Amino acid sequence: AKRAGRGTWRFFRPEILADKRQERFVERELRAAILMQELKVLYQPIVNSKGDLKSLEALVRWDHSSRGRINPNEFIPIAERSRLIHDLGMAVLRQVCMDMAGLPNVRVNVNVSARQLQLGHFKEDYIAILAEADVDPSRITLEITESSLLEASDVLKDRIGTLRDAGFSIALDDFGMGYSEFNQLRTLPFDIIKIDKSYTQSLGVDKVTDIFVSAVVSVATHLDRQVVAEGVETEADISRASAAGCGLFQGHLFDKPLTAEAVGRKYARPGSS
Ligand code: C2E
Ligand code: CA
Ligand code: CA
Ligand code: CA
Repeated sequence: AKRAGRGTWRFFRPEILADKRQERFVERELRAAILMQELKVLYQPIVNSKGDLKSLEALVRWDHSSRGRINPNEFIPIAERSRLIHDLGMAVLRQVCMDMAGLPNVRVNVNVSARQLQLGHFKEDYIAILAEADVDPSRITLEITESSLLEASDVLKDRIGTLRDAGFSIALDDFGMGYSEFNQLRTLPFDIIKIDKSYTQSLGVDKVTDIFVSAVVSVATHLDRQVVAEGVETEADISRASAAGCGLFQGHLFDKPLTAEAVGRKYARPGSS
């Protein structure tokens, strides 16, 4: 393993990642990690322009017994190539349910890979986990990632509609400015779009991006959807995102992903302060 800075061990170098055998090895290790409960969940606050907490995004970490902490970009893509992503998603949801009592009383956003929605039993599996923990689906937002890879098919549209009917909120994650995404804005039933950090951070730099983001936000607002600007790192990022019409913000300027305990301490639960 190679030291990759900031205390993380770069476990899977890209050139190794391309290797099929290595991939199967990582898959096996990840499967074991889920069973051994080596996956940890951090929570990143999403706030409004006044800095009030509006929701929390659950972000998985892998605390490997010998290699230390591994970030999701290093293992989610591997998990996404198989059903393992669904097992991982369920493990994260179970952890969220366990943490829920100590978290502020806002919705928790969990990431769902597009591939999971293609499984016929996705909804039943997620609802069963929530029921077991006595958590209502209205406490959960499903952030659908990789959505640009999905055709806005009728099947997908129906699946998302059924999830909303069950009480979940739906966010389109990493929203970009491509044609297919613009089309999803019109056709998919969702509650929130999250503007990808690559866009948030190029506001004010590139006029065309400014115009596109403003257009997307204005369509979303017209449809009564909320817009989150991701990757807010500077005051300039917020003021430009606000100018484009975004009302919600997530990024290092406010908080990095925090442990459940740290979130509970920083954002006291209503009635407890
Ligand atoms: P994402 O869903 O777009 O999550 C936001 C990522 O941006 C997180 O990276 C977060 O730590 C990072 N971030 C937040 N604020 C800032 C900022 O101000 N500047 C910068 N440069 N980065 C910021 P993280 O935690 O490493 O997660 C990476 C990706 O892994 C996530 O991107 C998501 O696609 C995926 N992921 C994480 N947890 C899960 C999970 O439980 N299930 C699935 N399917 N995917 C997950
Ligand atoms: Ca996300
Ligand atoms: Ca995102
Ligand atoms: Ca992402």
